[in-house]
Amino acid sequence: MSIMAIIMLIMIRILSNAAVEYDIKQELSKAVNQNFRYVSIEDRELKVTENFSYRDEDVVFLILNKAGEILKGDYPEEVADTLISFPVKNTVGRSVVCNGEKYYVKDLRIGRSDSKGIFIRGIIKKSDAYSHYRTIELVSYLSIVGIFCVIFIGELILSKRISIELKNMCKTAESIGSNLDMSQRMECDNRFHEIAILAQANNRMLDRMEQTFLTQEQFTSDVAHELRTPVAVVMAQCEYAKDKVTSKDEFEEVLDVVYRQSKKINTIITQLLNFSRLDQDRVQLQNETIDLMEIVESVCEEQEDKFGAAISMELHLKEAVTTGDINLISIVIQNLVTNAIKFSDEYGKIDIRTGEVENEVYVTVQDYGIGIKKEEQERIFQRFYKCEKSRNAEGFGLGLPLSVKIAEKHGGRITVFSEAGMGSIFTLYLPKN
Ligand code: ADP
Repeated sequence: MSIMAIIMLIMIRILSNAAVEYDIKQELSKAVNQNFRYVSIEDRELKVTENFSYRDEDVVFLILNKAGEILKGDYPEEVADTLISFPVKNTVGRSVVCNGEKYYVKDLRIGRSDSKGIFIRGIIKKSDAYSHYRTIELVSYLSIVGIFCVIFIGELILSKRISIELKNMCKTAESIGSNLDMSQRMECDNRFHEIAILAQANNRMLDRMEQTFLTQEQFTSDVAHELRTPVAVVMAQCEYAKDKVTSKDEFEEVLDVVYRQSKKINTIITQLLNFSRLDQDRVQLQNETIDLMEIVESVCEEQEDKFGAAISMELHLKEAVTTGDINLISIVIQNLVTNAIKFSDEYGKIDIRTGEVENEVYVTVQDYGIGIKKEEQERIFQRFYKCEKSRNAEGFGLGLPLSVKIAEKHGGRITVFSEAGMGSIFTLYLPKN
């Protein structure tokens, strides 16, 4: 801002100099024109009345012929040859420098006493003429300095205020860094637009960090919670086996429980490991040809072997081929199918469809089971979330979030359409290639 102010002030100074110079030349022309009335040429003779003034304040007048020879009047004493030999010309005011001083010269033709012509010449020294403008000049200088001071003080106040705002933001950042209190936010009044934008951006970042922190904390507590029950059962069974079990049958029963609980623990750990590998991009996705029809058929065969007539699966398969990681996509389809079975009535029906729409291939798994309430439909994709109605069902609420992650890694998505009591439709969409 100060640089701009200085540039502006220099420009004002240059322009005002030009204006003063123009003014002096105008005044000089006026003075020469006034004297013109007192000089005439009659019968080729030069006539100068007594009213003709050879000096009017700072202007000196002479009468010259075209060759520059003086007919009346005199140059000021200190004038050098440069000015004396300055060519006579009937034109607007001109300037000439002699002895380091600038002079303004105005020549005005009177008439012709001979072939060369006669002229009145008015001369004024710049420094003399400028003396009339000194006060104006002083006032302009003072106002320039005044304006500069006002701008400078304004800038000081402004930068002070800005630095206070920035210091406050730094304090908040340091305080968040030292005590990890993510609930703090950067405060800033909206006087400085750019600082307000910076504070808002920081606050948005803090919002996200706080959310991540909370999710992380929630996640840790969820994992601990999910693992605590099977671990407690395993410990209790071991204690029991140590102190109370006497027969082989009883011992086998205990082992059976321990095995089932260990399997649960293993499932949680495997799913969590899969998650973190996908999160950290530690899983190298294979780029294989995936035939969704084939995967669906093999998953369904497996489930039919397990559940037999307890469930009826109807396949409506159309070609759906893309590329990706067969193992991971199989995990997704298996999750969707097992969920459909898990949340259907016994002897319920499940429809599975594959096909292509526009640039995508899809697998749709439709059941007619318990369904999901509207308000729970978004939350089922969060880790460890289980709907109220299915709290006691097998599972840890990790299948869907893992499936979504896998779908996203393939550039795809999972959608849900469900109505409580009517059933659900889960669809996996993948880009064709
Ligand atoms: P889980 O292993 O518990 O099934 P998921 O992440 O696969 O974990 O599913 C999360 C929750 O979403 C389930 O516990 C259940 O409440 C609900 N859910 C998922 N699929 C269905 C479905 N087909 N019908 C009804 N509820 C479902």
